Amino acid sequence: MATEQIATAINAWDVAQRQFDLAAEQLHLPDGLRKVLREPQRELTVHFPVKMDDGTVEVFTGYRVQHNLGRGPAKGGIRYHQNVTLDEVKALAMWMTWKCAVVGIPFGGGKGGVIVDPKRLSLREVEGLTRRYATEISIIIGPERDIPAPDVNTNSQTMAWIMDTYSMNVGYTVPAVVTGKPIPLGGSEGRNEATAQGVVYTIIDAAKHLGMDLPKCRVVVQGFGNAGAIAAQLMSAQGSSIIAVSDSTGGIFKPEGLDIGAVLAWKQEHHTVCGLPGTKDISNEELLELDCDILIPAALENQITARNAGRIKARLIAEAANGPTTPEADEILYNNGKFLIPDILCNAGGVTVSYFEWVQDLDRDFWSIDQVNEKLHRIMTKAFASTLDMCLREKVNMRTAAYLLAVQRVADATSVRGLYP
Ligand code: NAD
Repeated sequence: MATEQIATAINAWDVAQRQFDLAAEQLHLPDGLRKVLREPQRELTVHFPVKMDDGTVEVFTGYRVQHNLGRGPAKGGIRYHQNVTLDEVKALAMWMTWKCAVVGIPFGGGKGGVIVDPKRLSLREVEGLTRRYATEISIIIGPERDIPAPDVNTNSQTMAWIMDTYSMNVGYTVPAVVTGKPIPLGGSEGRNEATAQGVVYTIIDAAKHLGMDLPKCRVVVQGFGNAGAIAAQLMSAQGSSIIAVSDSTGGIFKPEGLDIGAVLAWKQEHHTVCGLPGTKDISNEELLELDCDILIPAALENQITARNAGRIKARLIAEAANGPTTPEADEILYNNGKFLIPDILCNAGGVTVSYFEWVQDLDRDFWSIDQVNEKLHRIMTKAFASTLDMCLREKVNMRTAAYLLAVQRVADATSVRGLYP
């Protein structure tokens, strides 16, 4: 079976619940609290029509899930992908709850998705789909309730359409209903790069802990979108050599190091990283197992599984993607002495700057890029240090350490609020 088939065969929700169970067990959480935190609070499924360019009508299915609202409004991205399922969205929403808690920002976890391959649609059709989906989920989103952001195959333009649609429906402009907006609409400086910037901050801290010298490191990046391409650029700026990158069409490999600017220009023109002159085409499977120092999965879930974990050569794995590693693979990597920065910590820079954007929108007061990055750096470094501390103290892997911190914080908030009614 190819990696992609394996990835879709593994149920992300099952993975998310098993990760939670492990932490709940270690924390000796009371049974009732476990039952509450193990399930999402709300799941909305919508089937909605979109008029296509040829005049026909198509009906699409979308979801918005709110996992936990104990610490604040739900927060999480919206994904457009042909393989979206309700279970995937539930997993991504639960991971958002823990992620916000790890970095200590006052949000709960949410996520949305639409089953669609947007590359098959025209821009006008994507706009129609976005506006109707936004209207359908508007019954549960809002600046005090649930604040979407970009994820796979959505971007600042998608957020602009959602903000405009929501504002039209309520009759006044509501910038704080989404984050990851264009800057002229109340977006934040640094939000576009925030996920990758946070990933790199955690890599710098991990490298320090492991005694790795970044300018001597060879880096491999899977996924060349918002998270992956910018992480590649920022790691290159750290002096590391990016020896391979990939997207959904395959990967490219150059042992002496890629010129990331050239890869970006090639991808822009050809809509694939493959075929760049001077590089060797490789598969996504081969890419994950390359001899390198740092591996950055920045695509989709379930890429590192029991099947390939034993062949991963990187010493440091930085999860820019959500859920790229299964629990079985976690164990193999840990036993092989690999250091893994878990998704809920590693890619939390995105939601952290989304929080900054929401605060700026509500205050109508906007910050400079230096202010944003300084605050982001402080939050990421503190979260990394607390997680590493827990990992060393409890002798668990970094994922379990991050879960112990996060689940305890959410459990405390839930308990102190009490059970209504
Ligand atoms: P994106 O749509 O900008 O990019 C996704 C990239 O992954 C594309 O290059 C695509 O071609 C590639 N890809 C898709 N399927 C692939 C496959 N099977 N093998 C290899 N590459 C594949 O999305 P993004 O925002 O960069 O999100 C990537 C990951 O990062 C997701 O797991 C997402 O949840 C996570 N993430 C994103 C943000 C954010 O702010 N955008 C924040 C936190 C986490």
